[in-house]
Amino acid sequence: MAANLSARKLQIDALSAEAADYAHCFLTVDCGAELCERGRTYPVGGLAGVYPGLKLGEILKRMRCTACGGALISARLLTARPGQKHARWVELVGPAVQGPRRD
Ligand SMILES: [Zn+2]
Repeated sequence: MAANLSARKLQIDALSAEAADYAHCFLTVDCGAELCERGRTYPVGGLAGVYPGLKLGEILKRMRCTACGGALISARLLTARPGQKHARWVELVGPAVQGPRRD
């Protein structure tokens, strides 16, 4: 229970922060299209340069797959710092956050 609350807080903190604040992290995104590469990873510092001044949540809404142009169906943040032993994944977008998809 506490772990879930903690993950939710990390998610909200990350989505509402400017990307530059997470410049040391890596973002792995997926458009879900069958023919596209799974789990493309970008340094958040690079994204902060492409989308200056935007919050991470706003960038995720704007990002499109470089291959098919589709929106993201999943995104997660690897909060690794240089020399950090306990990097962790924070789910930002996707089934783990949004729950099962409704048809
Ligand atoms: Zn794609």
